[in-house]
Amino acid sequence: MKPCDLCSLDCGNRPFELVTPEKTLQFCCEGCRGIYEMLHEINTAPAQAGQNPDKPTERK
Ligand SMILES: [Zn+2]
Repeated sequence: MKPCDLCSLDCGNRPFELVTPEKTLQFCCEGCRGIYEMLHEINTAPAQAGQNPDKPTERK
C-alpha cells in the first residue's frame, strides 16, 4: 500500500499519479493531486480537453 503524498491516506489500487521531473507522486484522490500541484506550482500537461492554460477560468 502506498500513502497519499499529500494527506497520507491509502491510495488504494488506483492512485492518482502526478509525474514531476524529480519523481512520480501518488495521491488518494484527484483533489489531493490538484492541491499538491497548486502548493508546489507544478505545471503538467492537461490530460483532458477543455483546459486552456492561456485563459485560466475561475469557477464560482
Ligand atoms: Zn490524499
